[in-house]
Amino acid sequence: MADLLNPLAADAAAAGLIAPTWDTLPALLRDWTGQKPLLVCSGGTTTRCAAPGHWTLDMRPGFQEMELGEQGAIRIAAGCRMSSVLDHLAARGRTVGAGLSCLPGVGYVLTGGVGPLSRSHGLAIDQLTQIEGVWGNGESFNLRPSVDREWRGLCGAAPFLAVITHVTLATWPLAPLWIRQDTIELTELPVWIAEAEAWPNSRSLQWSWRYNATVDLLQVSEEPFQGSHAIDGQHQLPPLGGQSANDTRIHSEVLGLLGPAAAPRWREVLPELTALMRERPHPSCSLAGQQLGGQTGRVGWQASAFIHRDAVWKPWITAAWAAGDADQRQSSLGWLQKVWSLLSPICPGVHLAQLHEHLPWHKRVLQQAFGAYLPELRTLKRERDPAGNLPSL
Ligand SMILES: Cc1cc2nc3c(=O)[nH]c(=O)nc-3n(C[C@H](O)[C@H](O)[C@H](O)COP(=O)(O)OP(=O)(O)OC[C@H]3O[C@@H](n4cnc5c(N)ncnc54)[C@H](O)[C@@H]3O)c2cc1C
Repeated sequence: MADLLNPLAADAAAAGLIAPTWDTLPALLRDWTGQKPLLVCSGGTTTRCAAPGHWTLDMRPGFQEMELGEQGAIRIAAGCRMSSVLDHLAARGRTVGAGLSCLPGVGYVLTGGVGPLSRSHGLAIDQLTQIEGVWGNGESFNLRPSVDREWRGLCGAAPFLAVITHVTLATWPLAPLWIRQDTIELTELPVWIAEAEAWPNSRSLQWSWRYNATVDLLQVSEEPFQGSHAIDGQHQLPPLGGQSANDTRIHSEVLGLLGPAAAPRWREVLPELTALMRERPHPSCSLAGQQLGGQTGRVGWQASAFIHRDAVWKPWITAAWAAGDADQRQSSLGWLQKVWSLLSPICPGVHLAQLHEHLPWHKRVLQQAFGAYLPELRTLKRERDPAGNLPSL
């Protein structure tokens, strides 16, 4: 598993990898009698693409094709990374909504897909024009946008229902972006949050708090602004806060939250957050945030499984520990829960970009991610994956 990008998944004593093809996948799911759930690896960046004792369907070897159609939509096979999608499109003068990093694979799209251009173009799931795959029960499908409950469930909750083999996304013309990176005193963070909440949808703020007293900012805009410089497109975005230089192997879990515009409340919690950051159990424990809103809020909450359409901020908490240090793991996960409790009133939603079936808070995150939609999603799961081949709901 050494080639998996997520160190925790790469180090897991997994049962093994199976590389399916379009021909073998339906029977594989229909007849599966091994350990459940089957895990799926597209980009291999999360802790749940491989786990001790579980088999992983590795989409990377068999699903690599990409095709830009005449209507300007790109059909992507599930083993492609977002970096190759952006490079492929940039060479043809087009682009598509991507996240802050181009390392993730199709899991980025399937879990919603928040990016620096989401405020003007929407979430990645809002760009979907076709989804192909095989339900957990082994039946294959090829669906186009509709008000059907299957389409809704696949847009944001696909990992619980099906193995997706291809997605087709609308693209738009490649155009320069203007960016600016700064490091600020952490006391300035609420000021920046308030300012960003008043920006036009063509501009977004991303922030990363990894050290005690400072926060790294990355502004991305489709228009020039003071102090910015131009890049050719999302494929040239710098990493948020720069690369971390780690010489020891670090394992981590990430929890993404979602909340509406709330600059004054960020100011209120800052002292307690600062205290928590000072007592973090490992230097790689961190808090970061990205801005959405604008176009992401113009889609009805019942159109997809991503129900938090009022969200303007997605903070994510990273709990990190030295590989193999069980005590530090426990402390870090406890620390994550303290930060989560503090932020919950401001950010009551969860963005399920990472699955947590193996962690004690799985049920709570499902509730906070899908809310009133959860019972309907569970009904769909019972119909399409009755044997529970895929992660549980
Ligand atoms: C450096 C970095 C930056 C990120 N930045 C952003 C960001 O800006 N915005 C954002 O929204 N997210 C961001 N993420 C989160 C990321 O998009 C999600 O964690 C995503 O699920 C990872 O995709 P993957 O293909 O690499 O996942 P994998 O680890 O391969 O799989 C993740 C999960 O998705 C499911 N899955 C994967 N592929 C399939 C498939 N083909 N069919 C069915 N289920 C599948 C599996 O159950 C698996 O558990 C970032 C992650 C990283 C590591």
